[in-house]
Amino acid sequence: MASDLTNRVLLKSQDRMTKGAYFLGIELGAPLRLSGAVFGGICLESGLYLYCGSAYGPGGLDARINRHLKRRKKLRWHVDRLTTRGRVRFVGRVPEGRECALVSQFSALSKSSFPVPGFGSSDCKVCPSHLIKVDAEVLGPFLAQMTMVEYF
Ligand SMILES: [Zn+2]
Repeated sequence: MASDLTNRVLLKSQDRMTKGAYFLGIELGAPLRLSGAVFGGICLESGLYLYCGSAYGPGGLDARINRHLKRRKKLRWHVDRLTTRGRVRFVGRVPEGRECALVSQFSALSKSSFPVPGFGSSDCKVCPSHLIKVDAEVLGPFLAQMTMVEYF
């Protein structure tokens, strides 16, 4: 994991109620074996993953992202298994954006893959999944061009 992806804050959202799409950069320091009826037994190798989602409900992006950042929570979404076991290293916000457009962008990067078909995309008929495994070195320069990315 490139250290320049950590501890940098480029821009923090000022508008607390902004709605739109977001992505989480989640680092798994160790392999993670998924549980549950759908993905049980699938093992994610260690490395960097992107999860793309959207928040158009009350509270907007901030409420959703704050929940993702919580380490202790009742497991509700597929991605909760990663955010509770791995570490969220950065979050990107795209006001008025759509998560499937983000998935399309990130999956076009070299060395990107969809390790778990259907993960996080139960409601989506377009994307292989909303979880993408990415190469940190490929992603770094791409992220540097984006505004509204917070690093942790
Ligand atoms: Zn999608």
